[in-house]
Amino acid sequence: MAGSKCIALIAHDEKKDAMAEFARRNQAALADWHIVATGTTGGRVLDACPDLKVTRLKSGPLGGDQQIGALIATSEIDMLIFFIDPLTPMPHDVDVKALTRLAVLYDIPMALNESTAERLIKTLNH
Ligand code: PGA
Repeated sequence: MAGSKCIALIAHDEKKDAMAEFARRNQAALADWHIVATGTTGGRVLDACPDLKVTRLKSGPLGGDQQIGALIATSEIDMLIFFIDPLTPMPHDVDVKALTRLAVLYDIPMALNESTAERLIKTLNH
């Protein structure tokens, strides 16, 4: 990851279709970035856009959100796009909270829904 800008992508299950579409729509903007993603989200993004550079971490409920939080704490993530499902209880709710807390603490640009993500991604290569 050294040298290139890195964006983290995560989507809860009900939001994975939206994330795959988001990646497809914004493939050109994402092409110059390294992407890290939780396991299942990363797989969906790669299915949609096989040419993107994606590192898949653990699945969110198995620690993937915490891995991304750790990368934020070591300044290896420049932007976080996290499509959260606000309607479904999650076993790893505390991990989601910890991750968003670190993104705020380290002042990482962060989008938690699609409309913010669409605006944020337009700033990627500027
Ligand atoms: P997943 O993890 O991409 O592996 O499904 C996302 C999450 O639920 O935090």
